[in-house]
Parts: sequence; structure tokens; C-alpha cells
Amino acid sequence: MSKDYYNTLGVSKNASKEEIKKAFYKIAHKYHPDKKEGNEQKFKEANEAYQTLSDDSKRSKYDQFGAEFENMGQQQHNHGSYQQQGGFGGGGFEGFDFSGFSQGFQNGGMEFDLNDIFSDFFGGGMSGGRAQARRGRDISTEIQISFSDAIFGVNRKILLTKTSECNTCNGSGAKVGTKMEKCKHCNGQGKIHEAKRTILGTISTTKVCDICLGVGEIPKEICEKCRGKGVFRLEQEVSIQIPAGIRDGEMVRMTGYGEAISKGTTGDLYIKINVAPHPLFKRDGNNLVMDLNLKLSDALLGTKYPIKTLDGDIEVNIPEGVGINEILRVKGKGVPNPKTKRGDLLIKLNIKLPNKLSRKSRELVEELKKEGV
Ligand SMILES: [Zn+2]
Ligand SMILES: [Zn+2]
Repeated sequence: MSKDYYNTLGVSKNASKEEIKKAFYKIAHKYHPDKKEGNEQKFKEANEAYQTLSDDSKRSKYDQFGAEFENMGQQQHNHGSYQQQGGFGGGGFEGFDFSGFSQGFQNGGMEFDLNDIFSDFFGGGMSGGRAQARRGRDISTEIQISFSDAIFGVNRKILLTKTSECNTCNGSGAKVGTKMEKCKHCNGQGKIHEAKRTILGTISTTKVCDICLGVGEIPKEICEKCRGKGVFRLEQEVSIQIPAGIRDGEMVRMTGYGEAISKGTTGDLYIKINVAPHPLFKRDGNNLVMDLNLKLSDALLGTKYPIKTLDGDIEVNIPEGVGINEILRVKGKGVPNPKTKRGDLLIKLNIKLPNKLSRKSRELVEELKKEGV
């Protein structure tokens, strides 16, 4: 099936060179892979169309015979024949007319942001040739724990389905007992030099070899479990140590427990901890706070009250004559803190006054009144 280059650039069959250039710039700008709405496929197609239609002899051949008049590759690997010569226009490519490009700006009055296109083409590590370290994705999940577990810390196990290092070959991708051999694709270098034809001319770039992923060697025989990738998806149990005193909404980060990636660093796992509220206790820093309803007589006379704390049952001494909203402090029954000492339990006293008095109570209160209470 023949490709329609005119259609790709959105120009008519008798479009002028200027119209073709303009159309290509527009498309290149829009679909450049480094752009947000980038579309590598469309960008490549446009580039291919432009390489042909911008060249008079290629264009006339194309008009006669269609796209198959030559098998024009978009990329040429640096395997011997092509010598890298600085940035642009290495030997062997006659392709792009750089002077015409800059002229186009000065004379043609085209609305085109040169800086923009430069950053398009030189951004994203194309020029530096320095390979970015491969890193697996981070994973995030959340779990709910009880109030008490948040106070004292807990170990929780969760099941995660994620890409993990192959436990058969330990990530090498090689069949157990077999050796690695030099990657032929990159000649053991781990990277590939490439010359790309762009509207700025030929640009030499270096990228990580996509066969050995930068390692420079590949397995002679591949591990059957992971098909040589060194990683595969599986369900895995992860044990999470949740520290004592964690607060609702806090994150636990587990370095290296994210997704594994072939020949790269494993990502991290982030676990958001949701703490269930407690019916009795609230947290205030390192202290726990609770309300305690006292009868009026208990407040006046003093008594002992049984209380369920997170550490078990205790009895608190209510001294006689406590006031409304007075706070009793039970030392060391609050939130553990590894840096400071453990917080306290604060008991806020609420004295329940009777809403209705019996005849007997009334008589007694009137007695109290006489006493001046
Ligand atoms: Zn394996
Ligand atoms: Zn390689």
C-alpha cells in the first residue's frame, strides 16, 4: 500500500516547496514526541513525507512511482559505514538544508518559535548522550489500621501484584548455569550511536541499547521463567512494619519495594496509613484524651473509677471536690515516642448533673443548701 505524503502533510499535489515546509513545521511542532500532545507515529510520518517532498528529485520519483521508490530508513545505525562528525550533517547524508531553514525565518516571515523547536529537538537527553538510569515505577497503596495499632505500631502483610525480580535467575535473565555473551547489537558498549534526520539537519545521538538495556551483554540462553527479562509480574506478600505513634494519613515508604525493571533500579512502595477512629480516645500530640462522666456525688466525695486504657484496665483515683472540665493525668499511658518519653492519658472530667430530682434527693439537697453548699 502506497503512503500518501501529500495527505500526511495536508497539502495539495501541486503545493510549493514553501507550502510543504510550512505544513511540515506545523506538524513537527505539534506532534513532536517530547511534547505533551506528542505523537511519535505522526511525527515520523510527517518527517518521512517531508524528506521526500522537500527534495525535487525524490518528489518527482515519488509522484511517478509512489513511496516505494526507495526504502528510506528514518534512522541509520552507526555500524561502520557512517562516521560521526560533530553535531550536524555527518558524511553520508545529504538530507537537510539547514541554511534554508534559517532563511525561512528571516525572509518568509513565518510564525515559528526557533527556541521552541530547538528545545524540542535538543531537550530530553538527545544531545548529551548520557543514558538515564532505568528505574521501576513507584507503587502506592493504602491500608486501614486500628487506633490501637497506630499507637503501638504493628506489622501488616499485604498482597501486591507487581513486576518483581525473577527469583529463578535473580534478575540476570539467563538460564541457570549458562553464561552471558557480548551484545552484538551494541558491540558490548551498552549504547547505540544514532544519526537522526530532523528539520535541523542530522543530529547524532547516543541512546541506551534497547537489546541489552545498557548492560553490554545478553544471556546465551534465556531464563524460561521470565523469558530473559529478569523480571516478571507476580503476586507477592509484602510485610510492612508500621511504626508506633503513626498518625492518620501518614505515609510509610519502603525503598526498593516498588516495581522492578529489567537491568534497572526497583521503584519504591508508598503505603498511606488510614487510622480508624476510637470510640473513647482521641489523640493530642503524644497524649491520649478521653472524657469521663462523673456523678455529682462522686465529684463531691471523690472515688475510684475503673477505666479501660489501650494498655488494659486501670483504676483512677478521683479526688474529692473535682471541678467541671478538670483534667486528670495518668502518666505514661499515652502514645509511645521513640525520641521522647511516652505521652500521658488525659481524662477530662464531666460532671453529670441530675436533670430531675426525686423527693428524697430534693430533701437532701435542701439540707445541703442549709449547710451552705
Ligand atoms: Zn529469570
Ligand atoms: Zn546491547
